[in-house]
Amino acid sequence: MTDEQPTDDKPFPIPTPEIHVWVAYLTARCNFACDYCIQKPNMVPGQKRKPWGRYKELTGREWVDALNAYPVRPEHPLILTGGEPSLHKDFAFIASHLEGYELDMTSNLTFDIDAFAKELRAHGKQFATSFHTYHPGFIAPEKWLDQAERLRDSGIVRAPVFSMVNLHRFPHFRSDEHDRNIQKLVELADRRGLLYQFNEFRGTHMGKAFNRDHRYQIDCTSAWVNIDPEGWIYNCQYHLTERKNAFGNVTDISNCKPLPKMGEFFACSDFGYCDPCHENSGHGAFRDRDGKVFRRTDDDARIYLQWMEPAAIHQVARRYFAQGDLEESEHALLAAIGKQRESGTNDGETWADLGVTLYDSGKKKQSLAALLHAIESGVTRTEIVGSALVVAQEVGMTDHARQTILRYVPAQILSRTEQAIRAMEPDLAPR
Ligand code: SF4
Ligand code: SF4
Repeated sequence: MTDEQPTDDKPFPIPTPEIHVWVAYLTARCNFACDYCIQKPNMVPGQKRKPWGRYKELTGREWVDALNAYPVRPEHPLILTGGEPSLHKDFAFIASHLEGYELDMTSNLTFDIDAFAKELRAHGKQFATSFHTYHPGFIAPEKWLDQAERLRDSGIVRAPVFSMVNLHRFPHFRSDEHDRNIQKLVELADRRGLLYQFNEFRGTHMGKAFNRDHRYQIDCTSAWVNIDPEGWIYNCQYHLTERKNAFGNVTDISNCKPLPKMGEFFACSDFGYCDPCHENSGHGAFRDRDGKVFRRTDDDARIYLQWMEPAAIHQVARRYFAQGDLEESEHALLAAIGKQRESGTNDGETWADLGVTLYDSGKKKQSLAALLHAIESGVTRTEIVGSALVVAQEVGMTDHARQTILRYVPAQILSRTEQAIRAMEPDLAPR
């Protein structure tokens, strides 16, 4: 029996009822720097994740001695995470020396799996579950798939989960390389029989980006047991990363204040700064001043455009267009044009894409106006001139279009373009 043994007078300070989740953040460091990482203070596209703080990390021996001394165990697997937990120098030691814990880990799969598996097997240990997301900006699909198969086949995890973040509705956080690598990984995984899933992107807060512009007083039930790399315990990830309101330290549990029980409301004045994962996870709920209880956020992708440069917004619009999302493509193009105007610039290619998008949306007169503006801005490629002529014909504005085009394109080239159009299908659409 230890000093921490629960008694009627002094119950163990860390509650363990169902859905209470214990998480050991072994390190704040990660060898990747994803811009959609939920461990960023602001969810700004293009802004890379950095470690949220510097820590004198507990050693493997300190973790093991502290956690093994507890008289209770959580009902859910203890999650070993970070950052990237395998960057902790004693990751394998911790995993193979914790006693009585079901284990889970989240890892980007960049560690030496064979060496890790050898140490676990030597101690007769196995993880219950694990969670591994593919991050396409930082590792080739072939290499990640090799690692995923190696982990799956090693038998050191009973039920590993392999995943990708679903950024379909959030091209703000994608690049061409991202899309290529995801497509390649899906093809390879399907061919090689690796099961995977897509995870929800948790980057918004009540329909707004996580820009942490206001704090609100609210009642909250976020009662995670989040242990930082130095052993301090917090109820949510925001408080952990800010080192605010610690309940105590895992190495000195007899001086730990009791954590709230799962489902119990307590007052917090930091709502609005919460980490998106915790806020949206379903493991907690909030209660506003009117007594209304809510969990989920709205999900508005448009808010991310406010932090992006026009050229990047233009790329977002192109990705929306490529995936057939015309309304969002149009919105993004107009946002790019608005930002260009604010900075006194004018990019004809953005107008050209707007013309094509509007046409595909059935807004033909607006499409013609945008295409002509593109031509006026110097985009005189045959395909754009041809598109403008086709649309003009469809809306009965050929004379107007020809007059405008002739101010920027030699008559001979215009005539050649018109001949080419006549030689093609009469219902030629702009491309
Ligand atoms: S690998 Fe995970 S923890 Fe690291 S930056 Fe990417 S999303 Fe964040
Ligand atoms: S309201 Fe947000 S910051 Fe406050 S405890 Fe809950 S999750 Fe943490």
